[in-house]
Amino acid sequence: MLEGTPEIPVIDFAPFLEGTASSRQAVATEMRQASREWGFFYLANCGMPEKQLAEAFAASKAFFSLPVEAKNRVAWQNAESNRGYVGIKRERLDPARPGDLKEAFNLAPEQPGPGAHRNRWPAGPPDFEAVMTRFLDECIATADRVLEGFALALDQPADFFVGAHDQHHHTLRLLHYPPLPEGFEPHDGESRAGAHTDYGSITLLFQDSVGGLEVCTRSGEWIRATPMPGTVVVNTGDLMHRWTNHVFSSTPHRVNVAPEHRHRDRYSIAFFCHPNKEAEIACIDTCATAETPPIYEPISAGQHLQEKLTSTYGA
Ligand code: CA
Repeated sequence: MLEGTPEIPVIDFAPFLEGTASSRQAVATEMRQASREWGFFYLANCGMPEKQLAEAFAASKAFFSLPVEAKNRVAWQNAESNRGYVGIKRERLDPARPGDLKEAFNLAPEQPGPGAHRNRWPAGPPDFEAVMTRFLDECIATADRVLEGFALALDQPADFFVGAHDQHHHTLRLLHYPPLPEGFEPHDGESRAGAHTDYGSITLLFQDSVGGLEVCTRSGEWIRATPMPGTVVVNTGDLMHRWTNHVFSSTPHRVNVAPEHRHRDRYSIAFFCHPNKEAEIACIDTCATAETPPIYEPISAGQHLQEKLTSTYGA
């Protein structure tokens, strides 16, 4: 790392989970600062059981190693359900660039009701559905703890965000970036995932040891978010940017092909949090001042998401 290169903050969450009111507030203050300046931080001791995380990565690897025909049997169908397998180059996160060199599998907490979208479970690996269902529950619990931190960071009641997310309209996304073929040179701008911001409120990202995630600093420089064992990367998305009247950043990030990782697989798991569809996203009171009045009209979270998804998939 060059001298003077800024570093993405690392926040220890243990004092929030186990500490006194003042240690919780101290952690929340760190989260506030990191989200203002970076929109990204590493969170250590987030409370996710290591065993379930390891099981989820193993099940993800097993799924992606299936023949493509098997994966296509549970292919992603449309932005409304947003579930299932997305093959390599299906997606264009950055519409100006070629398709991304990755494959993904999306699943989500099941909603009640006869018309609700269902997960597209593959016939195998045998324990895939059970492992992912358990892991999904752990992700929801982890996200709720983190959302409590964000509420305190903005001087809101502890349940401010958790209450607005209690219908669990989240998406869990397994990602696999295959090794690039021998002799393959990425075309201009072709990377593992194009530069983008996330749509929702917050994202939790679990990375394996193969790096590639890069984050754009406020001065427009791309820096590597090197995997740190025992941490989850937390970032704030477009909806949180809007909700906080731009106090929290929604920072562009991408996954690049580092020369030393061209011939290695990379796996990651992202949990995208979205508020209840009917939740009104209106400027949070502590985010507006006389000098910085609300920038946006209120919008429902559902309408915000649908607009974003339609532009990514061209659906
Ligand atoms: Ca992302």
